[in-house]
Amino acid sequence: MDTIIPKVTAKRLPLYYRYLEKLASAGIPRVSSKELSRSLNIDPATIRRDLSYLGALGRKGYGYDVEYLIQFLKQFLKQDEVTHCILIGVGNLGTALLQYDFLKNNAMLIAAFDIDPKKKGKTINSIPIYSLRSLEKFMAEEEPLVAILTVPVQAAQDITDRLVNAGIKGILNFTPTTLQVPDEVKIHYIDLSVELQSLIYFLKKSEPVGLNEDDR
Ligand code: ATP
Repeated sequence: MDTIIPKVTAKRLPLYYRYLEKLASAGIPRVSSKELSRSLNIDPATIRRDLSYLGALGRKGYGYDVEYLIQFLKQFLKQDEVTHCILIGVGNLGTALLQYDFLKNNAMLIAAFDIDPKKKGKTINSIPIYSLRSLEKFMAEEEPLVAILTVPVQAAQDITDRLVNAGIKGILNFTPTTLQVPDEVKIHYIDLSVELQSLIYFLKKSEPVGLNEDDR
């Protein structure tokens, strides 16, 4: 589908998709924008507008056909091409990453997790933040391929073990530590402080510092 839709709408589509799949698996054939609104905490007018971009117009007194919408969304979201990712640790760095548009790289953050109860239930950039307690359940249902780790370093290995046990395939690790994982799990490390330090080191090394009269 070549429809151009606003970015804010594109970010909400995975939420609709996930919820509609739940309805379908419960055998529910149709849903109104009001019901979607209650369950997803998005106002009904926004939902109607979002779905109208897909050419799906709900009928008064009938609502939307669940299967029809799922097929549309599936095609639109290219479920087989977009890699679903989760993020653990919604601190400063985690929050910044949640606001980054990974979709242009065919990846999509579908959920974030944090141990802080104050963060639970919030959304950033339409991405829901869940309690860390629901990690395993979420992973079993959604099967994200990749996790981005932005937790404090002390928590990193524990969370990695949980992710691995729950079936994660790749980890993008922003914590400044080496993590133990089985061979089949791939880890990429991004240590911002080390990268910055090494850049500064190379900058300084190429300067003619420390030369005194005797060295010339
Ligand atoms: P940063 O700038 O590195 O994101 P920060 O100062 O914002 O750091 P940190 O203390 O590094 O915050 O924690 C990052 C996030 O990880 C916080 O939101 C914190 O609640 C969360 N966090 C801490 N421990 C855990 C854990 N065991 N599991 C999941 N999240 C955790």
